[in-house]
Amino acid sequence: MANTCAGCNALENPDLPRVTLLSGQEVTTWCECWRAECADRDIDVQRVLALPDREARQTYLAAYGQDRGPAALERLKQAILHTHALRKRQREEAEAAAAGASAA
Ligand SMILES: [Zn+2]
Repeated sequence: MANTCAGCNALENPDLPRVTLLSGQEVTTWCECWRAECADRDIDVQRVLALPDREARQTYLAAYGQDRGPAALERLKQAILHTHALRKRQREEAEAAAAGASAA
């Protein structure tokens, strides 16, 4: 990843929220480089959640950690937990709505 903020100059705006990329570079949540890192991570999240079982997920994550390092692995794990919780809540809300509809 480039060392510059892709020329977007968002860092010059003090009102934008700051984040730190895996490279250690500070950017804002409006920066293209942050969007790109999140998009890459989401692809990995989808890959892991599509794996058939826990053992396959552990194997994938171990290889990922070897390849990308502990900081990247920790962020991927957090993103997986977040996505997993989001899907669970969406499923529960859909079930509650379905139950409410049949009770009415
Ligand atoms: Zn930027």
